[in-house]
Amino acid sequence: MIFKTAKINAFRTWGLLLTMIGMGLMVLGTAGIVFWGQAGKVMAAIGLVIGLISMMGSLGVYFWAGMLSTSVKSIECPECHKPTKMLGKTDRCMFCRTILTTDIEQANITDDELEEHQMLQEAQGAPQSAPHHN
Ligand SMILES: [Zn+2]
Repeated sequence: MIFKTAKINAFRTWGLLLTMIGMGLMVLGTAGIVFWGQAGKVMAAIGLVIGLISMMGSLGVYFWAGMLSTSVKSIECPECHKPTKMLGKTDRCMFCRTILTTDIEQANITDDELEEHQMLQEAQGAPQSAPHHN
């Protein structure tokens, strides 16, 4: 996960992005007919198809996030004392973004060490320019 946020929130962010891209493509496709006439219809068709697929994908992501959030354990965050949901062994609080873990071996490392560890696992060699939201 590139974003410094709870995993469920990251899924929702991606779902929203996909919806926006899908809608954008459909609008662009329709605009293609207006601007380019007959030739624009091909563009419109492509835009509509890709847009539809993208929106279906986002629906899937939303649905998946919804399913996940009903099945994951709900815990009280030790930092802000709000009920948050945890995905996997390590996740961030949905409210204060504190890293929470059930893994004893990871419980004594810092934020940066954990991030480094995760990056090594997720992106093998690929250069990462992760935005830092602090
Ligand atoms: Zn919290």
